Amino acid sequence: MGQYVAPLRDMQFVMHELLHVEDELKQLPKHAEIDADIINQVLEEGGKFTSQVLFPLNHSGDREGCNHDKTTHTVTTPKGFKEAYKQYVEAGWPALSCDPEYGGQGLPLVINNSFYEMMNSANQAWTMYPGLSHGAYECLHAHGTPQQQALYLPKLVSGEWTGTMCLTESHCGTDLGMLRSKAEPQDDGSYRITGSKIFISAGEHDMAENIVHLVLARLPGAPEGSKGISLFLVPKFLPNADGTLGARNPITCGAIEEKMGIHGNSTCQMNLDGATGWIIGGPHKGLNAMFVFMNVARLGVGMQGLGLTEVAYQNALVYTKDRIQMRSLSGVKAPQRPADPIIVHPDVRRMLLTAKAYTEGARAFCSYVALQLDKELNHPDEQVRKDCADEVALLTPVVKAFITDNAWAATSECLQVYGGHGYIAEWGMEQYVRDARINMIYEGTNTVQSLDLLGRKVLMDNGAKLKKFGAKVQAFIEENGADEALSEFITPLADLGDKVSKLTMEIGMKAFQNPDEVGAAAVPYLRVVGHLVCAYFFAQMAKIALAKQDSGDKFYVSKLATARFYFARLLPETAMLIRQARSGAGSLMALDADLF
Ligand SMILES: Cc1cc2nc3c(=O)[nH]c(=O)nc-3n(C[C@H](O)[C@H](O)[C@H](O)COP(=O)(O)OP(=O)(O)OC[C@H]3O[C@@H](n4cnc5c(N)ncnc54)[C@H](O)[C@@H]3O)c2cc1C
Repeated sequence: MGQYVAPLRDMQFVMHELLHVEDELKQLPKHAEIDADIINQVLEEGGKFTSQVLFPLNHSGDREGCNHDKTTHTVTTPKGFKEAYKQYVEAGWPALSCDPEYGGQGLPLVINNSFYEMMNSANQAWTMYPGLSHGAYECLHAHGTPQQQALYLPKLVSGEWTGTMCLTESHCGTDLGMLRSKAEPQDDGSYRITGSKIFISAGEHDMAENIVHLVLARLPGAPEGSKGISLFLVPKFLPNADGTLGARNPITCGAIEEKMGIHGNSTCQMNLDGATGWIIGGPHKGLNAMFVFMNVARLGVGMQGLGLTEVAYQNALVYTKDRIQMRSLSGVKAPQRPADPIIVHPDVRRMLLTAKAYTEGARAFCSYVALQLDKELNHPDEQVRKDCADEVALLTPVVKAFITDNAWAATSECLQVYGGHGYIAEWGMEQYVRDARINMIYEGTNTVQSLDLLGRKVLMDNGAKLKKFGAKVQAFIEENGADEALSEFITPLADLGDKVSKLTMEIGMKAFQNPDEVGAAAVPYLRVVGHLVCAYFFAQMAKIALAKQDSGDKFYVSKLATARFYFARLLPETAMLIRQARSGAGSLMALDADLF
């Protein structure tokens, strides 16, 4: 069923030529020993594992789905998932970027991030099991007590146990302030937790011996709304002090959802009937602790979008060279065949290049953010750590929403490349479109990400974080503005930078008069910022490619052509988006709800 080959060349280009990851890591004492060879080796091994072990299970996992046994409350994952997970654990992959104190390998997140791209390309549904574990690991690592960390982290790091995030309830998803699950304190310091959670990814399965649920609930007398939420660690099996498994905790799967895509991942209704749990991060501080998990997951969802765009592109590309239909408008290109391969047609190229450009732009963008995260956590200079933290905070909602919106568009274009065959399950393309759709919804819908960007990250600090990022873009523009060969990239980048500044100020002013202006502008605004970031990276990539286009390595010719396509065909969308964002709340809010 199709193919997946890890895009090592482009990953290495981003790591070594664009971001100079090795030099950057040298500044971080924890990662100073990491060199290009280590990075390349991990990527190569990751490429083998993902294409040889995970990818062959992608289509079959989608067809088979997960099965729930109502009497035993157990969930069976698709054939081969469990065995692949065993191989993953035995090879030490879960430990890649984890803390050596708990058995981790301590590699930088920027490498782990690329590994996640590959896993998501190969099999998003499968990847969600370890992906959630990694989020639980990060949350416990940041907010767990020393005892919790000593008992749980080694098991999450080794992959023996997996993790979940249990936030959503049937009446609340976005607005977690309304959640009702209750936690009653017990004499021994634990809590009895009661409630029902829905849509819990990887909530129950047969891949690991224990599952560590991180559950949001309310303490008795807790303040109303989001200020009264606490976070609890609720294991499926209560562990003994030595890590062996004790009693079964009453947190069970009542059903799994029938859904549009990611069929290989179990989306569970979880019932807590007086389950034993332990508080993380203190009373009423649950959302604060959970945000660590949510931020990891938001970047992770961006990687899901990137992974799917890459694999859809690879398959569409093969098809366009193989499938023959009609003749080229500019004359026969394959006279020995009864028709030309469809890659000769301009619009087929537009679809392919859309996916190619979104993939390469997103790879540069995500790797950059992951590197900033490594610097935020490990740079010896406090000011650098703070600047990096600001950038990560600003760009996280953009990674999540911009890349997953693009993935939805790009996987759909790749399906279209196949004509009717794209719509037929046998070719695998329709699965990528279905799988891509959830990424725009969970971890906070893309609308919520847009509100986070414009409301919290930009307007609430008077644009300070955006200005800091803008200063980097400006420095690049000034450094290269005199280079005529680069003007086709620099001029539109500079123009967009100016427009983003003006747009931000305009929305900020309007928001003083009417807060609905923020909600009305947020979605197009996030896309404009996404394009600004993407254009910044494409301009840098074009600069490298221009310098090396005659080197004989066709990679640079291809990179340059992709950058030109991006500036000619995708970036101009910003003109429309800016008009939309500026058009205000009036046309949206004029109609009374009962007149719709
Ligand atoms: C397959 C799947 C897996 C999931 N996995 C998990 C998981 O592991 N753990 C977990 O806890 N949850 C999980 N979820 C839940 C997911 O995070 C929520 O579905 C999501 O956050 C949206 O919440 P909701 O479905 O209640 O929609 P609602 O919150 O009801 O939103 C409905 C619509 O209103 C919009 N909206 C809401 N508020 C605003 C606002 N202020 N301004 C503008 N628009 C607004 C939303 O954007 C959305 O379009 C999963 C969901 C699915 C489908």
